Amino acid sequence: MLGPVLLAASRSDVIRRIVSAAPVTRPVVDRFIAGEVLDESMAAVRKLDQQGLEVTLDHLGEDITDRSEALRTRDAYLALAKALGAEGLGGRAEMSVKLSAFGQALPGGHDIALANVTPVVEAAAEAGTTVTLDMEDHTTVDSTLAILAELRKRFPQTGAVLQSYLFRTEDDCRALAGEGSRVRLVKGAYKEPASVAYQDKREVDLAYVRCLKILMAGKGYPMIGSHDPRMVAIAQELGRRHGRTLDAYEFQMLYGIREAEQQRLVAEGHRMRVYIPYGTDWYGYFMRRLAERPANLTFFLRSLATR
Ligand code: FAD
Repeated sequence: MLGPVLLAASRSDVIRRIVSAAPVTRPVVDRFIAGEVLDESMAAVRKLDQQGLEVTLDHLGEDITDRSEALRTRDAYLALAKALGAEGLGGRAEMSVKLSAFGQALPGGHDIALANVTPVVEAAAEAGTTVTLDMEDHTTVDSTLAILAELRKRFPQTGAVLQSYLFRTEDDCRALAGEGSRVRLVKGAYKEPASVAYQDKREVDLAYVRCLKILMAGKGYPMIGSHDPRMVAIAQELGRRHGRTLDAYEFQMLYGIREAEQQRLVAEGHRMRVYIPYGTDWYGYFMRRLAERPANLTFFLRSLATR
């Protein structure tokens, strides 16, 4: 029951200020965030790369409220692309972006986000890598998929995220299961109304499997974004059934979560990509992690108690 409360809190400015200022919060945040600055995130990339893990980097930030912040997001990603290119990491490291951090929610935001993200996608291509568009709340899905379609005209390798909790997602999977398409399938991390999304966890899981079947049967490149051992096993079975080689799909997990499982999949010969968030604007991301797993919240509360 705490999950929805924490998700609501993830969008409250008042609670943001309280949680962000609490000194105890920092060590817990560090478990999920690679650092506040680019250098720290690059150190995490090198470390994971040595362990055979691929990565996708997220410069933290979302729901920005003015155009100058959107430009700062763009510039942070341009610096990231440059750093990846300079270290020759383009083949192992890609970038994940939240379009709300590029201005999508501002008036005229669709065009602003497209204008701001385009140079990032160009810079990624120059660095030998690509970009995946994270998916945010359901009100943004049409705009995000339209921006994806626009970007893919010049950069067909641009990826997107689809969330199995939304009723619409099976259709979106069918539309994006074609040649060259890259889709990260996740369950979904936002608080969504019953008019658009399954509320029951079991329904979300069943929808995830239906979506996975569509993507694995298709011609695109499925990216299985889940820590759920059942989803991992089902994806492996579907891969075998459809004659996919181990490099014809990949697993993705979040930084700091199920690291032993990440290593196990690499040892089995799978492509395993870790989603690395970095930056100072960690509040929304952190609260969603607390909301989706009681053990994460317990870890946080225990650290408060032991101070
Ligand atoms: P859950 O349903 O949370 O858990 C299922 C089972 O997985 C658990 O019972 C347990 O066995 C295992 N498990 C889960 N967490 C842990 C843990 N910490 N330790 C041990 N076992 C665990 N959401 C979006 O809405 N938009 C996005 O763009 C987006 N991008 C993502 C990118 C990546 C790479 C990943 C991995 C997730 C992303 N998410 C995104 C979050 C996603 O929607 C889910 O909220 C989140 O992944 C939790 O769902 P789950 O499938 O991992 O497993």
